[in-house]
Amino acid sequence: MNILILGSGGREHTIAWKLKQSPKCSSLFVAPGNSGTAQIAKNVPVSVTDFKAIKEVVLNNNITMVVVGPEDPLVQGVHDFFLADEALKNVAVIGPQQAAATLEGSKEFAKQFLFRHNIPTAAYQSFDAQTVDKGYAFLETLNPPYVLKADGLAAGKGVVILNDLNDAKTELKSMLVDAKFGQASTKVVIEEFLDGIELSCFVLTDGKNYKILPTAKDYKRIGEGDTGLNTGGMGAISPVPFANEAFLNKVEERIVKPTIAGLQKDNLPYKGFVFIGLIKVGDDPKVIEYNVRLGDPETEVVLPRLKNDLVEVFEAVANQSLDKIDVEIDQRAATTVMLVSGGYPEAYEKGKVITGIETIEDSIVFHAGAQEKDGKIVTSGGRVMAITSYGETYKEAIKKSYQNIEKLHFDKMNYRKDIGFDL
Ligand code: ATP
Repeated sequence: MNILILGSGGREHTIAWKLKQSPKCSSLFVAPGNSGTAQIAKNVPVSVTDFKAIKEVVLNNNITMVVVGPEDPLVQGVHDFFLADEALKNVAVIGPQQAAATLEGSKEFAKQFLFRHNIPTAAYQSFDAQTVDKGYAFLETLNPPYVLKADGLAAGKGVVILNDLNDAKTELKSMLVDAKFGQASTKVVIEEFLDGIELSCFVLTDGKNYKILPTAKDYKRIGEGDTGLNTGGMGAISPVPFANEAFLNKVEERIVKPTIAGLQKDNLPYKGFVFIGLIKVGDDPKVIEYNVRLGDPETEVVLPRLKNDLVEVFEAVANQSLDKIDVEIDQRAATTVMLVSGGYPEAYEKGKVITGIETIEDSIVFHAGAQEKDGKIVTSGGRVMAITSYGETYKEAIKKSYQNIEKLHFDKMNYRKDIGFDL
């Protein structure tokens, strides 16, 4: 089978690495890909949201499966585009249709879904520019900290948490009235603050059946001790040590089952990954957000622990026969540490030559913001590569990642030295 992956990050390199292991995968293409995917697949210089160009790639290469990495093409309706086209409608697309992708594309829509299906989450109200005064009044009824969320996609920057009531009011005005996040903040969700520890639960569904994949925890802030600015993610571990069986049962019963049933009830066709952002409040899970695709860098620890043939699993998603698949999970822990460009998540330089990759033996190097140039691998983004290791325990795994990072180098390379140390 010829397969196309959309995306260019560490997540997509990991998906490519996993699909490539399947005897069913004959040719693998990645649009646009990076230096890591170039080593195991054919990169095609096409944007993930250029659906017409994607169609050409699919038809010219007899591609029968498309795996969508990031959210943008899903929220813009790539799956619907395939279904509506006579020449493409039999291609298996892994990723939900636009209506269901709104679970990530609109926070208000996600909150309405959660409440409609009685899934535990923070209390909320939403406001627009016409109701900003009601927003101020609602803030006055809450205790700090105040959680304000731009409704639409804002590249991970649309959530602002403030301690001071007046600051919260000013922020609300700047989002709604001054369009701080453009279209994304025409509506704002104000939420009750949940105090607890976060983790992510990954579910694969064919719309009827579901399989729960390993849990993961990512590290979002740039600085050690979870300080400084938010990033796309600086590292991850799987499994999550504090998510014991009793807790995971609650996640399945109270959150996963009603989510899948809710998608069916609301007639939201869904073939793909559901990434449920959770917070453990006391001993109970509550939903912080839905994402309609895998996370990055969580993918770099979740897929390496999946023992199944991923092509077979995706075929079952496409045919709605996921109930026939027994998911097998590697009992070892996996950890990943992200190497980033100096200065990231603020301004940083690109084009730095990365050395030492070929010396790494007992970790997996997943490329992210890296490209090949004149026979060398150079940095091309803020998050450059993820170093994933296995271990009997996550502590053993993380030690291996850190030992191997010593062998890697690029000018102004930065990474967090405390991944997993808080657990
Ligand atoms: P990202 O794309 O970075 O995952 P996002 O912009 O989609 O994030 P959320 O995941 O909803 O937004 O929120 C971002 C972060 O804000 C969460 O990871 C969590 O740390 C914090 N957060 C969100 N909602 C709450 C809440 N109700 N109580 C406490 N913290 C919250």
